[in-house]
Amino acid sequence: MKDTNCRYCTCADDISVKVADLETSVLLLPMDQTYRGRCILALNDHKSEVFMMAPDELAAWARDLSRAAKALWEVFSPDKINYAVFGDLYPHLHMHLVPKYKGGPEWGGPFLLDLSKDSLMSREDLEERAGQIRRKL
Ligand SMILES: [Zn+2]
Repeated sequence: MKDTNCRYCTCADDISVKVADLETSVLLLPMDQTYRGRCILALNDHKSEVFMMAPDELAAWARDLSRAAKALWEVFSPDKINYAVFGDLYPHLHMHLVPKYKGGPEWGGPFLLDLSKDSLMSREDLEERAGQIRRKL
């Protein structure tokens, strides 16, 4: 099911590039790369809560999550990957996969979203980084 007013349902997200379509979700790489390799795993269907997924969809989504996290681990060698689900403003189930590095931004705390700073990558560099991740999926 899709919601025509939803940025994830309509693929109207102009601040990221698609890494790949997975079993039940799409992996996106946002332009804000404050946290090198941060990705967003967005469910294909418009559902706001984890419990709204059928058991087989939930299992497939977990496989997508694991596959994406492993690819990030292999490409970026983080010290830890953080997993965050909010959705207050965009209530379409999506998870931020955030590679974190000792001594890096917000190590030991929650990651921050800030599109106003200089951490936005060019679309060309973003496509290259997305390709690195795609090859590890
Ligand atoms: Zn949606």
